[in-house]
Amino acid sequence: MKTPCPRCGRQVDFLVGRVCSSCFAETYGIADIPSTAEATICRYCGSIRIGGRWIHVRSFDEAIETLAAYLVKKAKPVEPIEKVVLVSIDYETLPNWRTRVKLYLEGVYRGRSIQGYQSITARLRPSICPLCKTKVSGEYDTVLQIRGADSEYLERLVESVIRKLEIYEQVVDIIPGKNGLDVYFTNVGAARKVAKELAKITGGKITVPEYEYVGINSSGKRRTRKTLVLRISGG
Ligand SMILES: [Zn+2]
Ligand SMILES: [Zn+2]
Repeated sequence: MKTPCPRCGRQVDFLVGRVCSSCFAETYGIADIPSTAEATICRYCGSIRIGGRWIHVRSFDEAIETLAAYLVKKAKPVEPIEKVVLVSIDYETLPNWRTRVKLYLEGVYRGRSIQGYQSITARLRPSICPLCKTKVSGEYDTVLQIRGADSEYLERLVESVIRKLEIYEQVVDIIPGKNGLDVYFTNVGAARKVAKELAKITGGKITVPEYEYVGINSSGKRRTRKTLVLRISGG
């Protein structure tokens, strides 16, 4: 027996609450999924951290698919829908650090299937996984020591500067300490750029780099590591 939907007037097999399943999906959605989702991705090996675990993926596509699957798995179905699964995804923008994705969902209500969809923004934050951290931590070239301010404040500041300068690949590690923050770089140029930018913002002073001899490289040249110090007073 068919029933008319009071909202759209179509004759349907069943109602969800008071309306047909498509009106329900359109009005309430079928799962409680946040419109923006963020995950950390390792800029060296591409692993993605989801729900506290690092999962190896090979591309942005795979990272976004993994994130989407996790979101739907974690999502609560909208009452009275009992269960929701991810059917497929569609890219509204090209897979990148920030991607618009359409999730096609299927819900179950009293043994009946309900189709729904939702668009989300998936953001990937570049970082480094523990495995790569141990691999590259021995390979930094310059450390920028920032002193005289709270490490949490500095970390936020440094991350915003790195994002602005777009030099993720040149940052090896960021380590908070008691009196500030140590930022490890693959080259002295990147460290200087970040130090200058930070000095502008905080009014801090940069010391001349100190060189530390660390051995001889494969082409027979002396290898050195540099230390730059940025002092922020009154912070
Ligand atoms: Zn309807
Ligand atoms: Zn990694």
